Amino acid sequence: MKPEEKKIVRQEKDRQIIFEMINASISLAAMKGKHALERGCNCIACVNKRKRYLQNPQKQWKYRL
Ligand SMILES: [Zn+2]
Repeated sequence: MKPEEKKIVRQEKDRQIIFEMINASISLAAMKGKHALERGCNCIACVNKRKRYLQNPQKQWKYRL
């Protein structure tokens, strides 16, 4: 097998692994149902929430009580 062909096979395997991970996280979310963000939960909802939280960190509280 040529190195280029090996590279394509590897890329295809990587893509398959990613699809499997996404499918697993979706089925985990379907199984668990609605729930709050949990530490260590790898369902698609929690992953998205965590990602959103990391992308826009909460703003500083600017009012005094
Ligand atoms: Zn979750």
